[in-house]
Amino acid sequence: MINREDVYFRLPAMAQNMLMSVAGVGVNRKRYGALFHRRLAEYEDRDMWDPERISIFRKTRRAAVLEYASRTPYYKSVFERMGATWRDLVDDSAFIEIPLTHKSDVRDRPNDFLARPRAKGDSIVRTSGTTGTSLAICKDVNAIAEMWAVWWRYRHRHGITRGTWCAFFSGKRVIGASQGVPYWRTNYPGREVRFSGHHISPATVKCYVDKLNRSRLPWIHGFPSVIANLARCMLERGVGLDYQPLVLTLGGENLTPWQLKSIQGAFGVTPVQHYGLAEQVANISECVEGRLHVDEDFAEVELINQGGGLSQIVGTPYGNGATVLLRYATGDLAVAAKDHCTCGRAGRVVASIDGREADLIVLPDGRFTAPGAAFSPALGLAEAQVIQHENGSLTVRYVPSVGWSASSLEAMDHSLRKYVGQALEVNYVRVDEVQRTPTGKVRFAISEMRGNDRTNQVSLSLEERGRVVSSQL
Ligand SMILES: [Zn+2]
Repeated sequence: MINREDVYFRLPAMAQNMLMSVAGVGVNRKRYGALFHRRLAEYEDRDMWDPERISIFRKTRRAAVLEYASRTPYYKSVFERMGATWRDLVDDSAFIEIPLTHKSDVRDRPNDFLARPRAKGDSIVRTSGTTGTSLAICKDVNAIAEMWAVWWRYRHRHGITRGTWCAFFSGKRVIGASQGVPYWRTNYPGREVRFSGHHISPATVKCYVDKLNRSRLPWIHGFPSVIANLARCMLERGVGLDYQPLVLTLGGENLTPWQLKSIQGAFGVTPVQHYGLAEQVANISECVEGRLHVDEDFAEVELINQGGGLSQIVGTPYGNGATVLLRYATGDLAVAAKDHCTCGRAGRVVASIDGREADLIVLPDGRFTAPGAAFSPALGLAEAQVIQHENGSLTVRYVPSVGWSASSLEAMDHSLRKYVGQALEVNYVRVDEVQRTPTGKVRFAISEMRGNDRTNQVSLSLEERGRVVSSQL
């Protein structure tokens, strides 16, 4: 069967540009209606609220979510087992007694998480999990409007408006496999030039940079892996922008230290980041002081201490009348900051979002370790990825960058051994590109062990260690 995408990729560039703009009109209409504008105004109003006011607001929203949850078969049964009604669970101490919800719970029976039958206007959003962990979440129109509202509040902080032209670098295909220059298509109503991440190479990078310089696109946005690859090729070929972009924003994947170094080197700016999930269980966005704040009015976020300075991000989304999730374990890890930010926003500050639990590897004694930091930019790396095989051994795939030398491989092994010890077998394979998910994202670690849900195992061991809710507001 031929789908719409297949047709698009067979068309000439001019027709693809037209189709992209036609789709852009539809996206604008669906995403940015009257409800979005209302929600955005509310989010912007709350941006500088003091902690006490935000705290009262959160309580109200938490109560509303619990009431919705009581209508779902899944939480109805959870509440019954707890011998509680939703009203009993509104207070902080009672709320954290609700058992964590894991991805596998939702994947196995998604309809049990619906507060009502699916309705007209609902959207089914698929999460971008690795194979077998993708979820279908049903969102009502309000949930969609709130998601775009909280994202635009963050963008407005950094001077981006709906009219700001964007150079967008994602992992999705933009042009057909047999097509060449130009490596981009334009969505005029969406004010967006979509660049093909798949065609970036030292041989083509000048075309990309020339386009950016010609169009002077003020906002550069995309996946860290794609923009870092562009940056690496720019540095390698000695080409650069002849203008200063307004802002460079990143999202969708974790930013690694080696990627940050390439991006700063090539673009001369420090990227701005935000963290969000399709499940809408948490949103964390950067302020003008460069600090990451939890958006406290968007979802109930818990940072659950799991030792070693790391916390797991657990979240309860507000404002979705369709799929309801309570205390959902994201599998993502963060480091809570010890200080406050001077910008005046009440949201808790997160020092860094440090990877996913899926980015952990298992040591022979059963402990988990997050070796991402072993691959420092000083090694001259462009990309690195660790595959843990069924027998526990590791294969490290790596892409060298400028600065790679004869001694780099030995230095990389030395650095990794500090995390994994000497007992594990480690093989190193030099590649042109690391493996990507079907949606074009890069996962730092890929596990071939025990088939599925290692993330749940880690989350469960976390629960056993007791629940510690980070400093409340
Ligand atoms: Zn701040």
